[in-house]
Amino acid sequence: MSWRLARALEKLRSQVNAKWPKRGKGSDGSVGDTSHGARKSDHNPDGAGIVHAIDITHDPKNGFDSYAFADMLLAKQDPRVSYIISNRRIGSGPKGPQPGKWRKYTGSNAHDHHVHISVVSGAKADDIKAWDIGGLPDVAPEVVAAYIKPPRTLRKGSTGEDVKKLQKALKLTVDGKFGALTEAALKKFQTAHKLAADGVAGPQTWAALN
Ligand SMILES: [Zn+2]
Repeated sequence: MSWRLARALEKLRSQVNAKWPKRGKGSDGSVGDTSHGARKSDHNPDGAGIVHAIDITHDPKNGFDSYAFADMLLAKQDPRVSYIISNRRIGSGPKGPQPGKWRKYTGSNAHDHHVHISVVSGAKADDIKAWDIGGLPDVAPEVVAAYIKPPRTLRKGSTGEDVKKLQKALKLTVDGKFGALTEAALKKFQTAHKLAADGVAGPQTWAALN
């Protein structure tokens, strides 16, 4: 079946893409996927072949905090919004129940990896007036930090991608195997940076390397 996305959502998505060009899109979606397709959902095309919902990936590391975005969007009560789901919360636009107020969302998908935005049906769904998505502060450093996994502690005998990262940082031959040469170079680096020269890359050493 041929379908298209409601133009209001196309507009919103393009504004979001322009404002956060580096954002990850791993959990983006529009038309019914495996998790939505089987049941009644705004991700399924309506009778006219129009899809009324999009998902936008939660990616605070690259500036797009979908929880904060959902708060902002819900507060603005754009008449095109039917409802928003974000991080175990659901909230309605002006025509829904308790407009602008978060309620508990108990669906099986917590929506903590993306924000779901549904628009109303009818002409408003294709209203391409620019959305007001302003007023969001930069993502707080502690929020970003929570999404960056610290590299694991590496020592002689360690192997893998993070060893490659370490070797790159130490300007060594990159083979992903933490051997004697890597250890010696790491000790040298630690001494130069007034760290305990134990040849083990722990949190403090990683902080100095980065
Ligand atoms: Zn969705």
